[in-house]
Amino acid sequence: MPTAPKFIGDFLEFAFSNRICKVSVVSTEMISKKVKAIIFKGTFPNVKFKIGQAIIIRVDNRNYRNYTPSKWDSELGTFEVIFHIHGNGPGSHFINNLQTGDQLTIGLPRGFNIYKQEAKHHFFFGDETCISVFKSLKDKVNGDENNYLGILEMDDISIQELKNTGLMLDMVPKSINKAEYAIDSLRNLDVKIWDLWKNGYFYLMGNAKSIQTFRKALKEKGIQSNNIYTQPFWADGKVGL
Ligand SMILES: Cc1cc2nc3c(=O)[nH]c(=O)nc-3n(C[C@H](O)[C@H](O)[C@H](O)COP(=O)(O)OP(=O)(O)OC[C@H]3O[C@@H](n4cnc5c(N)ncnc54)[C@H](O)[C@@H]3O)c2cc1C
Repeated sequence: MPTAPKFIGDFLEFAFSNRICKVSVVSTEMISKKVKAIIFKGTFPNVKFKIGQAIIIRVDNRNYRNYTPSKWDSELGTFEVIFHIHGNGPGSHFINNLQTGDQLTIGLPRGFNIYKQEAKHHFFFGDETCISVFKSLKDKVNGDENNYLGILEMDDISIQELKNTGLMLDMVPKSINKAEYAIDSLRNLDVKIWDLWKNGYFYLMGNAKSIQTFRKALKEKGIQSNNIYTQPFWADGKVGL
C-alpha cells in the first residue's frame, strides 16, 4: 500500500499501533552525494529482526515506502538504514531532508529471513537501494566464516564517490539495457572463483528489470532457480513497490 488517503493512514496507525513505532533520528551521514546512512532510535524490545526484513516509513500524509535495515538492535532500540537519494519521489525527498532529532513513524520489520544458512558462497547483485540489505547479509556471512562476492550496478556518481560502503563488491555502471555491464562482469569472473560460487546462493535485489536480465544470465550459466532469491525494490516509472 504505497499510497493511501490521510484518514486511512491515520486509522491504520491507530488500529495496528502494536506494529508501529515512533522513532527519532540519532545521526545522518551522506556516504556519497546520493547515498545517506541514518541511525534511528525507538523502543521495540520484543522485535526479533531477521535479515532482509523491511520496515515501512510514512514519508508524508499519503505515502508509505519500504526500506531494509542494515543493522538492528532491539535491546538498544537502534537501527540503521542506508537510503538511495534518487530524487524522483516523495520517499527520496523525505529521507533527503531528515536531520538529527527529527521524529517519524515506521512500521516494524516484516518479511522472511532471506539468508541461506547452509550456503558457503553467497553472491549479491543489486544497486544503491541494496547497500543496506547487503551490509546486513555481509555481516552474517562474515560471522559464519562463509564467503561473499557480487556486483553493484550504480549511477556514475556513486561509482566515483562510494568508497565507503564497507562492501567488497565490484561496481559497474547502470546501462540502458539493464544489467548489461553486470553480466559482462559475471562472464569475466575468474574460472576458479566461478567453480566455487556456481554452487552457492544468489541474491538479486533492486531494479525489477535488472533482476530479470541478470537472473536469465545466471540460468544460462547453469544456476538452478532454487539457488536464486529475487526481491524487486523498485521498477522504472512505478510508484513505491
Ligand atoms: C522490500 C523493500 C525494501 C527496500 N529497501 C530499500 C533500502 O534499504 N534502501 C533504499 O534506498 N531503497 C529501498 N527500497 C526501494 C524504495 O522503497 C523505492 O526506491 C521507492 O520507490 C522509493 O520511493 P520514492 O517515493 O522515493 O519514489 P516513488 O514515488 O516510489 O517513485 C517515483 C519514481 O522514482 C523512480 N524510482 C524509485 N526508486 C528509484 C531508484 N532507486 N532510482 C531511480 N529511480 C527510482 C520510480 O521508478 C518512479 O518513476 C526498498 C523497496 C522494497 C520493496
